[in-house]
Amino acid sequence: MATQTKLWNFSAGPAILPPSVFERAADAVRELRADGHAPGSPGVGMSILEVSHRSKPYEAITFGAEKLCHEVLGIPETHQVLFLQGGASLQFAMIPMNLREAGKRACYVDTGVWSQKAIAESQPLGETQVIASSAATNYDRIPAFPGGEAYAGASYVHITTNNTIFGTEYESIPRAEGDVPLVIDFSSHAGSRPMALENAALGYAGAQKNLGPSGVTLVYIRKDLLAKKPAGHVPVILRYATHAKEPSLYNTPNTFGVLVLKLVLEWMRDEGGLAAIGERNDRKAGKLYAALDASALFQPHAQPGSRSRMNVTWTAAGAPEAEREAITNKFLKEAQAAGFDGLKGHRSVGGLRASIYNAFPEAGVDALVDFINEFERKL
Ligand code: PMP
Repeated sequence: MATQTKLWNFSAGPAILPPSVFERAADAVRELRADGHAPGSPGVGMSILEVSHRSKPYEAITFGAEKLCHEVLGIPETHQVLFLQGGASLQFAMIPMNLREAGKRACYVDTGVWSQKAIAESQPLGETQVIASSAATNYDRIPAFPGGEAYAGASYVHITTNNTIFGTEYESIPRAEGDVPLVIDFSSHAGSRPMALENAALGYAGAQKNLGPSGVTLVYIRKDLLAKKPAGHVPVILRYATHAKEPSLYNTPNTFGVLVLKLVLEWMRDEGGLAAIGERNDRKAGKLYAALDASALFQPHAQPGSRSRMNVTWTAAGAPEAEREAITNKFLKEAQAAGFDGLKGHRSVGGLRASIYNAFPEAGVDALVDFINEFERKL
């Protein structure tokens, strides 16, 4: 069985997962093992793709995954873990539906495309205030988190802690003042290093970057928020309380996706947990930023202090403006031929992006650094 894919996969998501997870997931497709697909446990006589979500084998998977979210990701016990569907995008809508209180505004920090999509789902439901933004510099930094007076009396304040498209990341998760709940979209850096998840009352992450396949969204919500009365009617399926009551089993979940999430969390634990993974991610991103900072041709988009360790974005800013697009296209073409896949940046930044999630090997970063240096030398 292949354990090494042929291409270096820099995709922003769905993204690279550890080879051992691919193997264990393939094994579970052939026959699921008992005890949450524990190595050495007997087969249950069925594939993960056919097993009922109401069965004992699946309960071991979903409750096992939930437990690992607390143990490995550091989600505090004060919060309920949920595995939902509809992607992080559904959370953009569920948050204002569930957390907005009558007569109170919702506050957002605008750090780019995904923040704006979250804001757009709040606006039709009531007063929505942008309390900080880095739009003026094309989202090349994380604005300072405002003081409590900016969001006093709000239903909640929402931030995007890692901005996949612009390549910016909060150095640390801020603490909101007063009793205003902080809501974080941590989709693209979940599980990448130790972080103060307890500062958020609600956090959500589409799994398809660091945590697993697409089709599962990890949500964690402080238990007292489950009793909050929303400002308007919320359909049963869209209430957090519904999914908390029958924990992630209200309707048929993405059973395969939750299994893979569990396998990824086990891999993370076995790698030494968030501290060890965080160190490796610092080193990987550090090498790439150092090469880009040293380059006369390329320049990172994100400013120091706001740079993502997961999504590194850069442009050919050292070249005359008229030549930048052609150079970027040449780079992409040659990179693809050399086995580097998924380096095209989002059109709003206009250059290149390397997503180097947890499972992306350091050797692939080294290979990219060599390729960048060589490309510049030959140009
Ligand atoms: N938030 C962030 C930070 C993202 O990167 C993405 C997807 N790339 C989304 C939200 C939307 O996620 P989904 O496609 O799972 O709805």
